[in-house]
Amino acid sequence: MPELPEVENTRQYLIRSGLVGRRLGAPEITWANTIREPSVGEFIEGVAGRRVADVRRRGKYLIAPLDDEQHLVLHLGMTGRLRIHDGDSEPPPMVRHTFPLDDGREMRFIDPRKFGHLWLLSDPTDAMSKMGPEPLEPSFTVEMLTDALVGRKAPLKALLLEQSVVAGLGNLYADEALFLSGIHPERAGNTLSDDELPRLHGAIVTALTRSTDAYAAAREAEWPDPPTALSPWTIPRDKGAVCPRCGTEVQLLRVRNRSTWYCPDCQPAG
Ligand SMILES: [Zn+2]
Repeated sequence: MPELPEVENTRQYLIRSGLVGRRLGAPEITWANTIREPSVGEFIEGVAGRRVADVRRRGKYLIAPLDDEQHLVLHLGMTGRLRIHDGDSEPPPMVRHTFPLDDGREMRFIDPRKFGHLWLLSDPTDAMSKMGPEPLEPSFTVEMLTDALVGRKAPLKALLLEQSVVAGLGNLYADEALFLSGIHPERAGNTLSDDELPRLHGAIVTALTRSTDAYAAAREAEWPDPPTALSPWTIPRDKGAVCPRCGTEVQLLRVRNRSTWYCPDCQPAG
């Protein structure tokens, strides 16, 4: 499932492909449930003819400001990805939606499982629930993370998935951040020590930075068709695999029904 690094990779791909400045034609929407707001008809009419002013990211959302203070907001869901190709090229399988560009190319929203979402909104935050800090912004501090965890008794794994605690983390990078910080995924949020809080903060930043760097290198090496799913985390996610740090077999837990891999030696129960 796309998390912050995958969505940022998509953003960088769209920018490098020259989407900014292009005018969109009337999109072809083949799966109406993707459009959350407004109606499908209003969405098509509202997008057609508008120029893309920028491509931004907030958490796992992509936001393209258009003319007239409208915003195309996009969530990749479980399996979504975007590609820009010449309009006369053979579309890859599972293209659900097509946005023609005024230079003869088109932006294709490929979405096998159809869990992606699109909005056209004047206020893009209407698409999102309350969002916490962006972990790769320099403004993300240990104090912010500390404040977000005050009084929170839920397991850390669950809290890290709440977009209101930190924006953009999903299952894989939450596990990786807990592994890198040596903290057990079921520790309650309000039990972290003064040593553990900066460790967790640093691990979140490290996990995401390593990944966004890996995507940047892959885009460079494999342009114009860079990968959309790398696995640049260090905690193995396989039964029988061992911790790269201590050699102990990694364990699988269900935390709030999410599969959670951890090392029982490096991440002792608190
Ligand atoms: Zn270990």
